[in-house]
Amino acid sequence: MRKTVNLGNGLQIGGDHFVVIAGPCAVETRELLDTVADAVAAAGAGALRGGAFKPRTSPKSFQGLGVPGLELLAAASRRTGLPVVTEVMDPRDVEVVAEHASVLQVGSRNMQNFPLLREVGRQSKPVLLKRGAAATLDELLLAADYILQEGNSQVMLCERGVRGFDPSTRYLLDLAAVPVLRQRTDLPILVDPSHGTGFAELVAPMSKAALMAGADGLLIEVHAAPEIALCDGKQALRPADFALLAAELRRLVPLCGRRWSRPQTAGQVASIQIPSGAGPVGSGSFGPGSLDDEVIAP
Ligand code: PEP
Ligand code: MN
Repeated sequence: MRKTVNLGNGLQIGGDHFVVIAGPCAVETRELLDTVADAVAAAGAGALRGGAFKPRTSPKSFQGLGVPGLELLAAASRRTGLPVVTEVMDPRDVEVVAEHASVLQVGSRNMQNFPLLREVGRQSKPVLLKRGAAATLDELLLAADYILQEGNSQVMLCERGVRGFDPSTRYLLDLAAVPVLRQRTDLPILVDPSHGTGFAELVAPMSKAALMAGADGLLIEVHAAPEIALCDGKQALRPADFALLAAELRRLVPLCGRRWSRPQTAGQVASIQIPSGAGPVGSGSFGPGSLDDEVIAP
């Protein structure tokens, strides 16, 4: 029996439900967050993502706004009706993150942070667990067991790419992980094509491929102005391109025997809005990738 994570208000993840979780890599300002939150809600996203605690390779990079960022996310959630998915890195922050968010994300760098896994297992909010960049699928499943063993059965897994040998993409998005995990677990399986490829132009094709591979949902980075993003701008879709992709996915989802899942009250938009002037998804060029697409603070 496949597990379904219920986020309330009609939003379910897993089973025959397919959900798109979208938003910026990091919460930067209220204005940028609200612009993206409104846009992804209008396009049909099921949940809002955004990091307030950011795991950055360099300590000089933007580290996230912390608790004020959580407050901006909670306000954006009230405004749009979208539940919030946000990362927690430190066991000491689990309580405050759980107060503000609907889903706690454990990022790839912390997939085997066992005290953190135990702590998110002891609280009641669902957990989105991302695969470590060098973790096997067995290791991912065992990491999920740490959470389940503490009593939290609301766990979702997320494939987000592993370290490959070719710098053409940031990571090597392992889509075969989806059907392999499907054989081994009942937990919902998501795919993150943003971190998995590192380039906005690759997000649409890999999103569609993930749906076809049987994923239960997607985690997609969207930024109102990717060129000034403090984190991961190269892989962020503009709101207009996200709307085009969401519209395409909404057409494909029923063909795959799935249902598009979103909160009943989200965005209060009856139909998909495709902003005029939106360029085709996938246009533009992309070059060699880097594992650390980071803006180093001066
Ligand atoms: C993220 O989703 O914000 C993130 C940091 O991703 P990952 O942990 O997969 O690198
Ligand atoms: Mn990111």
